Amino acid sequence: MVRETIEQFTKLQTLDSRIATIESQLAKIPEMLKESLERFEKVELEKTTAQDEFQQVKTEFLAAEAAAAEQANLLASAQKKLTSVQNNKEYEAALREMDNLRKNIANTEEIVKLKKAAMEELEQLISTKTAESEKFGKAYETDKSEKESENKSLFDEVGTLRREREDFAATVKKSLLSKYERIRTARQNLAVVEVFEEVCTGCNMKVPPQLAVEVKKERELLQCPYCQRFLYSDKKHEAEAAAAETVKPAKKAS
Ligand SMILES: [Zn+2]
Repeated sequence: MVRETIEQFTKLQTLDSRIATIESQLAKIPEMLKESLERFEKVELEKTTAQDEFQQVKTEFLAAEAAAAEQANLLASAQKKLTSVQNNKEYEAALREMDNLRKNIANTEEIVKLKKAAMEELEQLISTKTAESEKFGKAYETDKSEKESENKSLFDEVGTLRREREDFAATVKKSLLSKYERIRTARQNLAVVEVFEEVCTGCNMKVPPQLAVEVKKERELLQCPYCQRFLYSDKKHEAEAAAAETVKPAKKAS
């Protein structure tokens, strides 16, 4: 029973470590694409800024045009009034009014001209930025798919591993799985470790000798008192180490 649990945990751990390794490699992709994306986003922002500015200038241009038309109407009616003046004083007043209106019209027309020139300049800028944005947008997409195809085998592998992990986890008893998950999360994907020569290989602390003995017996699921990782003992590993000790008598036993 304990052996089976340890084997299940070990299998989960193998899958989880590999998934984590691949995920950390894949997580680097956005960083690699950062420069390419930033170049695209910068020119996109410049484009929309120019478009907003164009709308603003266009509004001002239309307002100035309307004002010029209004002033032209006023001038026309002032000219009409000139034909019906009664005396010299009225005649001079009408002339002054017309003179003022002409000045206003000249000013307004100057504004219309300036706004029109500004609109043309902005249109030019928008078309440049649109072309750049398309170019950099495509370049980013190309970079992205290049990086993705470079890493295609990793994407495929992690997909397969995630499915395998999910299927396998479904076969593990829920209460055991949640125990495993708790330690895995706390201990960077290393939840089940060997006790070798009375040392927990997860945290490298010497465990109480009695615990090492109990782990060998595999009667219950035991955890390291220091790092809480689940412990197992590899008899073959211990035997090999013991054999190596005997062929090297010079080495002091510790
Ligand atoms: Zn430990």
